[in-house]
Amino acid sequence: MIAHARQAQFAVDADMLELGGMALTRLAQRVGRTPFYAYERQHIARRVAALRATLPAAVHLHYAMKANPMPAVVQCLAGLVDGIDVASGGELAIALDTTMPPQRISFAGPGKGDGELACAVAAGVLINIESMAQLERVALASERLGLAGRVAVRVNPDFSLRRAGMRMGGGAQPFGVDVELVPALLARIPEMGLVFEGFHIYSGSQNLWATALAEAQGQSVELALRLADHAPGPMRVLNIGGGFGVPYFPGDQALDLTPLADGLQRQLDRLQAVSPDTRLNIELGRYLVAEAGIYVCKVIERKLSHGQVFLITDGGLHHHLAASGNFGQLIRKNYPVAIGNRLYGGERERASVVGPLCTPLDLLADQMEMARADAGDLVVVFQSGAYGLTASPTAFLSHPLPAEVLV
Ligand SMILES: *Cc1c(COP(=O)(O)O)cnc(C)c1O
Repeated sequence: MIAHARQAQFAVDADMLELGGMALTRLAQRVGRTPFYAYERQHIARRVAALRATLPAAVHLHYAMKANPMPAVVQCLAGLVDGIDVASGGELAIALDTTMPPQRISFAGPGKGDGELACAVAAGVLINIESMAQLERVALASERLGLAGRVAVRVNPDFSLRRAGMRMGGGAQPFGVDVELVPALLARIPEMGLVFEGFHIYSGSQNLWATALAEAQGQSVELALRLADHAPGPMRVLNIGGGFGVPYFPGDQALDLTPLADGLQRQLDRLQAVSPDTRLNIELGRYLVAEAGIYVCKVIERKLSHGQVFLITDGGLHHHLAASGNFGQLIRKNYPVAIGNRLYGGERERASVVGPLCTPLDLLADQMEMARADAGDLVVVFQSGAYGLTASPTAFLSHPLPAEVLV
């Protein structure tokens, strides 16, 4: 059986995981209860620094905050990246509370409400337009407020990201404007008194294959340059999405940034030749935060059934749907899971980690090898800094919410 890649992103002392310089059991005491999510500030900073060191300096790095909207995390990233991409009025409010200037916040999403659009126009953020009807509603909000909305056109690309965990382009999509409808929409922007700023092209997510990502980036730039001929003004910004994946499962290899850096440099050169004032943005969610976070729950009971070990914990799918395998995965695979206060342990065994919910779906680890654990031990789910708490059905079975800390 293939094992998970070794989780080496955090310090380990005396077989105990450490986050933010604090031993896990001490951190649990500090938080005061289990389960909890903990994110490490230092890891996030290192991650952004490594990206900056590898990617061309001219590429602007945005944080797609739906990956992790905890206000402290978003503030931490606001000080490290060049912009924040939001996808709801709630996320917009969190982003506006940070030190990020509103000019560098952009707002995407197919179902923006009139209230959300009015807030976005008033705040002066860039609105990524996803349909003609949405453009008309932005124009109405702008007229009412006496403020010209800043808009970019989100294009539903005529290609999709190959080998992506989640595709968001190519064919019929609720996201963005179909390529052939874009010229007519562009023509309306100045008629409505709105400010055209550029394009947003997002083709997929969770990709560990640099060649496919670089190929999609090239196709995005090509498409944008083609559409820019129809634009009512200069293309000031081009957001070509992200899709950088992280390794979750056995056999997953971390993304190789070098070919991506080379590819992005080629795209910058191409833009420089025909549209030198265009700012090239990439937007990353999970790549910036997933590995910086863990989910921690406590073993309530160790149970044997037909010779198999079940560690029954106080946490589960209601807090961490993705780790249970029910967040869009086709085949359930184990996230990296370990006993955090006895990482390598003397005695090891095969165990399943389950939660308190009355459903067989409430499974955090299915027959994984780990240190032998008992009631009171702390189970850690790694790679949990993105699509954790806010991507989970917390109301299911009415258990308390987990705590969340940034250390
Ligand atoms: C979800 C989303 C992202 C972030 O995706 P990750 O896989 O977390 O990097 C970026 N851009 C858009 C438009 C999205 O919908």
